[in-house]
Amino acid sequence: MDRSVLWFRRDLRLADHPALASAAAGDRSVVGLFVLDPRLWDTAGDNRRAFLAGCLDELNRAMGGWLVVRTGRPEDVVPAVAAEADADEVWATKDFGPYGQRRDAAVAEALEQAGRRLRLEGTPYAVEPGTVHTKDGGLYRVFTPFYRAWKQVDVAPPGGEVDVSWARGIDREELPEATGTAQTLPAPGEQAAHDRLDAFLAEGVDDYDERRNLVAVDGTSRLSPYVKWGCVHPRQVLDRLGDTKGAESFRSEIAWREFYAEVLWREPESRSRALNEKMRAMPVDTGAEADERFAAWCEGRTGFPVVDAAMRQLVSEGWMHNRMRMVVASFLVKDLHIDWTRGARFFMEHLVDGDLASNQHGWQWVAGTGTDAAPYFRIFNPWSQGEKFDPDGEYVRRWVPELADVAGSGVHEPRERGGGLFAADRGDYPDPIVDHKTEREESLARYQALSS
Ligand code: FAD
Repeated sequence: MDRSVLWFRRDLRLADHPALASAAAGDRSVVGLFVLDPRLWDTAGDNRRAFLAGCLDELNRAMGGWLVVRTGRPEDVVPAVAAEADADEVWATKDFGPYGQRRDAAVAEALEQAGRRLRLEGTPYAVEPGTVHTKDGGLYRVFTPFYRAWKQVDVAPPGGEVDVSWARGIDREELPEATGTAQTLPAPGEQAAHDRLDAFLAEGVDDYDERRNLVAVDGTSRLSPYVKWGCVHPRQVLDRLGDTKGAESFRSEIAWREFYAEVLWREPESRSRALNEKMRAMPVDTGAEADERFAAWCEGRTGFPVVDAAMRQLVSEGWMHNRMRMVVASFLVKDLHIDWTRGARFFMEHLVDGDLASNQHGWQWVAGTGTDAAPYFRIFNPWSQGEKFDPDGEYVRRWVPELADVAGSGVHEPRERGGGLFAADRGDYPDPIVDHKTEREESLARYQALSS
């Protein structure tokens, strides 16, 4: 029986998998390979590593135990496995990230030298990057026109599961093991992704537009780690959405992910450099005081209750609510004047859904250096954000036990509105490390100086 190799990367599922369907076509048996690439594994952060290890375990189980895992550089490992299997073709899903593109070019070249081929099919997105562009073929730099054009693209319905004969007898390593630092991580794998999607469609999607910003409730899908690793494809999600207001709002969030992938693919330098050229000269604070403030932000002890609650949620769950991602990012950049890349790195270390395009451009959007249409003037007020999106103070009390006795929304300004309880019993909660009004003005002054 002829053999081919299916190289799994961010597509850890068996259903609706175009590259897998092609690898198995013509009755070939398939070597299902996952390469533990130290350049990705070592930088993934404990939570993402633990989730990935769980997903590989689930995938292996679903494959009847025939997943081949090998450690090493893909340009060495993939050709070696293809040679061992005597497979002419290695199939994989396209990758649009800066590293993935370089890696795939190197693997294709190495395979070619041995007379074999890397064949790329399918993408991690509903709409392939490069499909949506301005009239002259350029990049949309703001979301709304991108979204309008994205919605016009026909997305093929999801495919089913292919009957695959998995190749045996190829050397493989033990599956990796990893433990996250978060106290709880989502259940890994394709089945868990669909269970999560089913639950969200049954209970959450219709109210999504109303509840998605309420940080104390479970109003969002929590699908992000599954989408990141391809346990479920966005096409499978979109296919099941109806046309309620909630579904429309949810569809646009899926499109944000596609927008950021497009931006990073076209502007790979924006992974670490401001997309907006003018903003590259924006002064940021460095040195011992900035380091201390950064540490307070990381550890959730800034004295701003919603910021601290959110940072503690991140460390504890490996996930943070989107509204809070925006609030803490704004606080780091515009109240503490610290470079967005430091915050983005800390997020990538802890997030179980850490995704380079969504993370770096989520940060750049908030920092006003990227795709936001109303760039630097948007400075989130940490108290009013708390009042608005955690109106009963439940979220803050959940994550900041020092404030557990402060009732209602008084928890957002515990010293002023904590009813005396806080001051008497819980004096260990820090005072605000900066004055928001002063730092807001400082940020605007820096921006104005840059613009003049
Ligand atoms: P839902 O609200 O249920 O959304 C459904 C899906 O749409 C998500 O699973 C995700 O795939 C996508 N999505 C939703 N909002 C966004 C968005 N603003 N940008 C891109 N995709 C979105 N998302 C990541 O997946 N990985 C990251 O590393 C990441 N870093 C971020 C950093 C910052 C500073 C900000 C502001 C946002 C970041 N986001 C990131 C986007 C967003 O916060 C998360 O996708 C969302 O909170 C995940 O929770 P959910 O699955 O319940 O989202």
